Amino acid sequence: MSELHALFGGTFDPVHFGHLRPVEALAQQIGLARVLLLPNNVPPHRPQPEASSTQRLEMLRCAIRDRPLFDIDTRELRRETPSWTVATLEELRAERGPQQPLGFIIGQDSLLSLSGWHRWQDLLSLCHLLVCKRPGYAAEMASPEMQHWLDAHLADAPQQLHQQPAGLIWLADTPLVAISATEIRQRRHQGLSCAHLLPPAVIDYIDQAGLYLK
Ligand code: ATP
Repeated sequence: MSELHALFGGTFDPVHFGHLRPVEALAQQIGLARVLLLPNNVPPHRPQPEASSTQRLEMLRCAIRDRPLFDIDTRELRRETPSWTVATLEELRAERGPQQPLGFIIGQDSLLSLSGWHRWQDLLSLCHLLVCKRPGYAAEMASPEMQHWLDAHLADAPQQLHQQPAGLIWLADTPLVAISATEIRQRRHQGLSCAHLLPPAVIDYIDQAGLYLK
């Protein structure tokens, strides 16, 4: 059986400890061999990130320099158009073959809004969903139907995530990290320190590039 790998998608404007620490704990807990950070291409009709695609990618590179668990997958950034998560997962599944166990990592906030994702019902045919805790978000799904769907797919033990390629949901017992990229951008706008919120190498890059100052 091949190793369990996972993707972790986001805007990463900027990447912060709320992304990195829960995922590092998750990796330890379930034995993830590799996490591919997947920065997304933001659709033109949606509010644009303050940092450019190149800058968001560069910040990820700074963040993972001394974190061997992580790598970066730039496929969504390289495309002209935004991609649905399900389409990216289909591509990855085709590359890796049907047997490799694959996870897609999300925070609790993303789990709660999952029913709004394009073809969300197809996600579990392609990967496991690995859910990190996030403070301030309900533990229960908003509707009984979604709660039923969640309960029906819960994994009981991490070994199951290695034994089958997709189809399970793991609610990880990860540390609660009360950080958001929005808070970081706001603190920067106000001239406040962000030293405790993201890796020093990312802060250095933000300072050099003059990001989030307006
Ligand atoms: P913003 O504040 O700009 O909306 P964000 O901090 O929520 O950004 P994203 O890049 O949108 O970060 O998030 C990518 C993924 O990381 C999502 O699945 C989200 O649930 C998860 N995530 C972000 N912050 C945390 C956190 N503090 N704890 C757990 N998961 C998080």
